Amino acid sequence: MALVTTKEMFAKAYRGGYAIGAFNINNMEIIQAITEAAAEERSPVILQVSAGARKYARHAYLLALAKAAIEDSGIDLALHLDHGADFDICKSCIDGGFSSVMIDGSKHSFEDNIALTRKVVEYAHAHGVVVEGELGKLAGIEDDVNVSAADSSYTRPEEVEEFVEKTGVDSLAIAIGTSHGAYKFTPDQCTRNADGILVPPPLRFDILEEVGRRLPGFPIVLHGASSVPQDYVREINALGGKMPDAIGIPEEQLRKAAQMAVCKINIDSDIRLAMTAGIRRTFHDDPSLFDPRGYLGVAREEVKKTVRHKIADVLGSSGALDR
Ligand SMILES: [Zn+2]
Repeated sequence: MALVTTKEMFAKAYRGGYAIGAFNINNMEIIQAITEAAAEERSPVILQVSAGARKYARHAYLLALAKAAIEDSGIDLALHLDHGADFDICKSCIDGGFSSVMIDGSKHSFEDNIALTRKVVEYAHAHGVVVEGELGKLAGIEDDVNVSAADSSYTRPEEVEEFVEKTGVDSLAIAIGTSHGAYKFTPDQCTRNADGILVPPPLRFDILEEVGRRLPGFPIVLHGASSVPQDYVREINALGGKMPDAIGIPEEQLRKAAQMAVCKINIDSDIRLAMTAGIRRTFHDDPSLFDPRGYLGVAREEVKKTVRHKIADVLGSSGALDR
């Protein structure tokens, strides 16, 4: 078993009508939870590292933990840099043993995005590493990435062929209405269903469809695709937390995207929520607890449960390792 690129994973996912989960990692418990869940579901999985996570846990630890997870879980893993902001951080992760990097040039002009992405692709491919690019801008906040709703924009399908052709990227992140963080929509952007639950505006499947038509067989990536489970939000709020109006993407919509051209779905906020709910519950139930294994162990179980649910019910990748 080894660190692998996403090439084979995406080709199989595209043909099979499912997506691979790319879960953000920050520490040992999260890595164990994700990889144990994937191994039990017999699903391929991507561990991804943001610049913020790299600052927090440091590159050497995350790489060593990912390798330990391969040994322990017995499955191949891809290790991916999430939102590389410039050539240097991509180079550092390529030189440092990652199997995949994202260069996020979406804040630049179309031409500058192409030039920057091309430069990363040339270096990455020469070292056996694959590259994800981005067209269109997602709103929201994720570690060092912060884009206001006013500055966000949907991907323009008429640009995707030229971008992929000129850059040589292996996959492409697009903006179709998802966003980063746990507050993806304000309540006034949503409608209420019969049960009084807030329903956000639907994703722009017309854009995804057009992108898929223009790039047949090419893997598309969805960022900002947490569902923000309301059970966790309610529990956190009931136990002293303060997360008013946290709203995510309905899972049925993500399932639909996974059946289309989307081969990679990024999930971070839902892991944070699972972990936070588990820790809050543990302290609430046993205020005398001071063994970190007590609360981090519960948090790890909650993350694992969340990841198994995503794989089985949202991504559709259960059993894919055996197919
Ligand atoms: Zn993202």
